[in-house]
Amino acid sequence: MATAQQLLQAFDGLLQPERFKDYGPNGLQVEGKAEVRRIVSGVTASRALIEAAIGAQADAIFVHHGLFWRGQDGRVTGWMKQRLALLLAHDINLYAYHLPLDAHPVLGNNAQLALRLGLAADARFGEQDLGFLGQRDDGGSFDHARALALHVEQALGRPVRCVEGAPGAIRRIGWCTGGAQGYFESAIAAGAQAFITGEMSEPQAHYARECGVAFLACGHHASERYGAPAVAAHVARQLGIEHKFIEIDNPA
Ligand SMILES: [Zn+2]
Repeated sequence: MATAQQLLQAFDGLLQPERFKDYGPNGLQVEGKAEVRRIVSGVTASRALIEAAIGAQADAIFVHHGLFWRGQDGRVTGWMKQRLALLLAHDINLYAYHLPLDAHPVLGNNAQLALRLGLAADARFGEQDLGFLGQRDDGGSFDHARALALHVEQALGRPVRCVEGAPGAIRRIGWCTGGAQGYFESAIAAGAQAFITGEMSEPQAHYARECGVAFLACGHHASERYGAPAVAAHVARQLGIEHKFIEIDNPA
């Protein structure tokens, strides 16, 4: 058993949220019971995840996408009321870490995605150094963008949307999980021959064709499934509590 405060200190110590400018508060977003025996991790603090955590008799939830974001109007109505009501009624602590969870060099979303894809980072790029740049961990290359897209599809079990860049082998690969299509231009500037992220917007297809750098969108959720369980499992082990990752499927 651990206290909710010990958990907060462990997450903060590992992820160092004070180093980031973020879109919402990192750390303990909703306070629950003082003592925690079991923590559930997931990608998003959706109602489905909260209900599954209640079913698993969890005292705490650890997520990448919490409840509160800059730009919300602050009203506790509709889905927000429902999610908060469940957390408060069951006295469950909600911990959320956004950019600090993307960035952690070993346990974060980018590092854990790289592990699944067999990539090794040797550089960072983009705003707040959130973009990772590297190559295959076996030193090899992909014959062309389609081969890389097929590899990502097989590793993640999801279809990948790929806009091919210049023909030829791909060695230098940039990646940034989630909705990081805005990092494409800094990936190009950093020397990537392909860029992998979760989502694609209209401009990136043109940048890919015009700059000769492949763009791969493999799903926001699909690219961010690995950081939260890695961090929560690590801290749970450290504090001697139970941990379980609950996947709430999301086609996005
Ligand atoms: Zn995200």
